[in-house]
Amino acid sequence: MKWLKWLIFILAWGFVGCNGLNQDKNIPGDPHSFSQPNKVLATHLHWEGSVDFERKQIQAKASWLLSYAAAADTVVFDTYGLTIDSVRLDDNQSTFWKLDVPQAFLGSALRIALKPSTQMVHIYYRTGSQARGLQWLEAQQTADKQHPFLFSQGQAILTRSWLPCQDSPALRFSFDAELSVPPGLKAVMSASNQAQMQPSGRYSFSNKKPIPSYLFALAVGDIHFKAFDERTGVFAEKSKLEQAWQEFANLPPMIRAAERLYGRMPWERLDLLVLPPSFPFGGMENPMLMYVAPSLIAGDRSLTNLVAHELAHAWSDQILRHASWEDFWLNEFFTNYIERRIIEEMEGPAYAEMMLALNNLELERNLAQAKTNHQPTILAPKLLGKDPDLVLSAATYQKCTAFMMQLESKLGKKELDQWIKKQIAEGKNQIHTTNTFVDQHQNSLFATNVFESDIRDAWLYQNELPRNYERKPSARFASVEAVASIWQQGEDIRNLPTGGWSVYEWIYFLRAVNHGQIDPQRLHALDALIGFSQSGNVELKSVWFQLCLQHHYLEVLPEIENMVANTGRRKILIAIYKALWNNPITKDEALLWFNNYQQRYHPVARSSIAQLLGK
Ligand SMILES: [Zn+2]
Repeated sequence: MKWLKWLIFILAWGFVGCNGLNQDKNIPGDPHSFSQPNKVLATHLHWEGSVDFERKQIQAKASWLLSYAAAADTVVFDTYGLTIDSVRLDDNQSTFWKLDVPQAFLGSALRIALKPSTQMVHIYYRTGSQARGLQWLEAQQTADKQHPFLFSQGQAILTRSWLPCQDSPALRFSFDAELSVPPGLKAVMSASNQAQMQPSGRYSFSNKKPIPSYLFALAVGDIHFKAFDERTGVFAEKSKLEQAWQEFANLPPMIRAAERLYGRMPWERLDLLVLPPSFPFGGMENPMLMYVAPSLIAGDRSLTNLVAHELAHAWSDQILRHASWEDFWLNEFFTNYIERRIIEEMEGPAYAEMMLALNNLELERNLAQAKTNHQPTILAPKLLGKDPDLVLSAATYQKCTAFMMQLESKLGKKELDQWIKKQIAEGKNQIHTTNTFVDQHQNSLFATNVFESDIRDAWLYQNELPRNYERKPSARFASVEAVASIWQQGEDIRNLPTGGWSVYEWIYFLRAVNHGQIDPQRLHALDALIGFSQSGNVELKSVWFQLCLQHHYLEVLPEIENMVANTGRRKILIAIYKALWNNPITKDEALLWFNNYQQRYHPVARSSIAQLLGK
């Protein structure tokens, strides 16, 4: 008698009210969330779950505390592929609920009927086999190959595949959690974590500071811990722990540098978690538990800039919240600047200048490629009907940095730092769309004496860079350019002054020589001498392999296969697969290798590469 149940449900909903208005009503819409936060907002989560590696399933109860802004008879959550077993209100009262028909990548709205007095809803559920936000790894796919591993990745809209939630970046909630995992494994979350393995397999967590759903994070595995100091440390598989500890030991001085600039770190502690190779990003700013890719362990700390970026989020996330993924650039705008300032403090201005020049070089390359492929690169795109995971690109980050540096040159570094510090201290944390942010700061950041409105709008709404954009030269790269030009004329690299070059000078060199035709034999000689193909730095290797593929130096194909088989970083994989695909001789390898290794990739990386290869 399902129809009768629904008739009662609809009639009942006509009569229910709300239990007190205690929340701001002005939350802008989000095209990727079904939730209606202007009526009811879920503000605190109590989560109880158990992790079953055999079934590849989490079974859980999500208890959400509600806050009302308007008369509401329903609360709506986002879900994706979840099986809802039952829903209860407050002290175990039954209620009506309904899962809508799923919509592509958005999943299904879960609508729960409320009573006038309802404070809390309890959702009993299980995750599906295709939970896009969870990656279940067999023991063989981990570094130590002894135990299975599970990790979550929420950005952009994947958390709904393992937690019914109001899955919009504008909305934040505090949480506590109790989790049961197989004995012998450790669970960690984006919360305060226990350093020791619990023999019972039971772990509890708490995060009192509200976070957005995409930063709700969980990992389970044979994870060990080593402290850097009293408020930082690193979690990793046993065989990676010591290497990771050595590589990331500059986290405490990085935090101190950021604190000198912008005040005390907003989190009471911050630990790093080194993920297995299939983690699709370089890092993720999960609060109190920063995720880092194992490929950042280069052996010489040359990739720890990325740690500075994720660390910068701890401060920048206090300035504002982006209303939806259409306004994602706002999330990275201040972060990239704070990252740059941390690097400047740690490594000095010449190094930071070099990073900026490299950023601009990559930006221009990406913009040119996007233009050829008719892909938009505007900072504030319209994403209705589009999967946000597929449209956010490296160019977004690079453009944010370039935009922010133009702002610095107009306002002055000291003034900009002070402005940012003040915003963080005030901690208003307002929700902003691109328009509301620009409007609110019309008299400061976006005043007409800082940016003419057409220049500002060009940054936000055009694919090309604004007409007056000036590239800041790097003194260290000027000498690299001179060497690149002589090498291109046929000179042996051994006769050129490359001693003391960092990885970044070599990356710049490889980009700078990429004009016209290069004889594969010259690339062979270069590799024999410098050892690019064997480098521990995955960014350098990626640029090198792209050059090799473009100029038909195919002796390195076994090394390239090794890379696509053992790296899960989407950015690196896309660059390599694109280079393979663009060379008619290696198109078959692209298809074959993707076919062979795609199961090792995270779903977000897999779908991006599939799109690239037209699969
Ligand atoms: Zn970021």
